[in-house]
This record gives sequence, C-alpha cells and structure tokens, in this order.
Amino acid sequence: MTLTVLVVEDELAVREAVRFHLEQAGYAVRACGSTSEAWDQLSNVSAVVLDWMLPDESGVQWLSRLRANTAFAALPVLMLTARAGERDRVEGLDAGADDYLTKPFSAAELAARVRALLRRVGSDGRKSAVRLGALEIDQDAGEARLAGRVLNLTRREFDLLAFMGAHAGRVYSRQELLDRVWGLEFVGGERTVDQHITQLRAILEENLTAPKFLETVRGKGYRMREVSDLKPA
Ligand code: CA
Repeated sequence: MTLTVLVVEDELAVREAVRFHLEQAGYAVRACGSTSEAWDQLSNVSAVVLDWMLPDESGVQWLSRLRANTAFAALPVLMLTARAGERDRVEGLDAGADDYLTKPFSAAELAARVRALLRRVGSDGRKSAVRLGALEIDQDAGEARLAGRVLNLTRREFDLLAFMGAHAGRVYSRQELLDRVWGLEFVGGERTVDQHITQLRAILEENLTAPKFLETVRGKGYRMREVSDLKPA
C-alpha cells in the first residue's frame, strides 16, 4: 500500500523539492502552501511534513490545533524549520511535532526521517510494535521483548528504549534525549541519560548472543542501530 504524506510549505521551490524526494522514496505526496488548505487535505494522510513559517498562521500554531483534535492526535508530524535555536526546537516539540529538520536539509535525511516516523505507527495511525532484529518494542502493551522474553524495565527505561527504537539510525545528544524522553519538567543532568543507557545495555546484552543495540557516538550522543546493522557478522 502506498502511504500518503502531506507537505505544508509556502515556499514553492522547497515544497516541490520535498515532493520530489518523497515521491522518489515511494510515497504519494499531497502538497499545499497554507494551513487553511491543509485541513482539507488530511484524509488518508499517514504523515505530515510541516513548515514553521507559513502565511496565515505558524506551523506550530496549526500543529497545536491539529493535536487538540483526537482524530489527528497521533498523526506523525515532521517540522521543517529555518530556526535551530534551543527554545524554538523545544517549542516545536512541545506543540506536538514528532521530529524536526533544520533547513537546509539533505534529501536522504528527509526521506529517512519520514520513514522513521511512519515505522512507529501502523497505517491506521495507531502506535505499533517496532522490531529491531530479536528486539521487539510494543508501545501499545508498554513492553519490550528480546527473543520473545519480556524485559524487566522501569517506565523510564522503556520510554527511552521505545524512543530510540522508533528513531533507529539517528544520533541523539544527551540533551535531546532529556527533552524528548524525560520532558521539560525534568530537573537533572545529562548523566541521567548515561545511567539509563548503561542500565539498558546491561539488560539488553545479558543475552550474550544479542548484538549491541545502543551505540555510543563519540562527542555526539547515542544511536540505536538499524536492523540492517544488526545482522550477525
Ligand atoms: Ca515558509
């Protein structure tokens, strides 16, 4: 089944470039230049690529209204932004964006981010299981299994594993993980992330035949390996 992605971007050149690259990646694409048009385009859309700066209202404002509607509460949204500041980033995520991409971006990265967002939801828009080799992360059941065995995780360990699993292949800094997994109310340091990663590794690699899932990327943060990297050598 071909999945449809809605692109909301007022700049024609960017809109057409995004359309081209998503079509190349195998998606059907609908595109419009304002949020007022976007409301009419949402039926059977599996994900939205949403620009921040739009003519009638900002992408963030529209996203807040979209999220308030239960029909679209779980629709994956990738925010496009020329802004890279920490506060803007947090505002976008806070409004309900699942991920964001700072302009200029590469076609490969755009397609990879959209693919990652779609991987974590079923075609009906519900969260579903993420499978990475022998590791299965079931968002609906709130449990993770390794080779069929349920892992004994704390709530935060599960949330971290589920987030990393849903965004496999992408490197996250400790601060980004704090923003996305712990949330804005969390008071504490980046060491908390290291402690949770260490604990998750101990649990995941207790089974010695399992490959290393969580990779440290020097000077940058952590990355969940993609399935293609998990094949035995
Ligand atoms: Ca714009």
